[in-house]
Amino acid sequence: MKFERYGLGIAKGLMVTLKHLFRRPITVQYPEERLVVSRRFRGNELVWDPGRCTGCGTCAKSCPQGEIELVTSRGEGGDWVVERLEIDLGHCMFCGLCVESCPFDALFMGMAYERSTYRRGELILDKEALSLGPGRQPSGYFRPEVEAQLPRQTLLVDRKEGYI
Ligand code: SF4
Ligand code: SF4
Repeated sequence: MKFERYGLGIAKGLMVTLKHLFRRPITVQYPEERLVVSRRFRGNELVWDPGRCTGCGTCAKSCPQGEIELVTSRGEGGDWVVERLEIDLGHCMFCGLCVESCPFDALFMGMAYERSTYRRGELILDKEALSLGPGRQPSGYFRPEVEAQLPRQTLLVDRKEGYI
């Protein structure tokens, strides 16, 4: 009580301010500088592997939003052929249930997060937009074999190595 009368409280507050004034910034200049997201990131996209997909429809049945539209037909050998696959990201809540339910590991959450658009229709991804390919990195979410190959997430404050 006595010390506070001599301005010790103010000095303590200023010390906190000074401490933060001289430390390295932990913010980054996006979009010039980008951080590596979590290996299990659930980004604003899904990635589909047509080579593994059997057209079983489990993903569509598992989606609580009913956002996966799948149309199949019988191929020459009797296997199902995926004629149409569409996922409406405008209504998707990125719960990952479709990925978890796929019995053939043919569906992945994606690592992308920049999909702003003025038109909702552009958020509907068709077969081509969902297919594995350049610029579409599957996430390690529920896919440990993918997770093991992804780079380590950038942590703003790394307690072992100090600030990045
Ligand atoms: S992430 Fe969830 S909401 Fe989105 S398509 Fe898959 S199951 Fe449906
Ligand atoms: S659950 Fe998997 S294998 Fe079945 S239709 Fe969906 S993506 Fe294809």
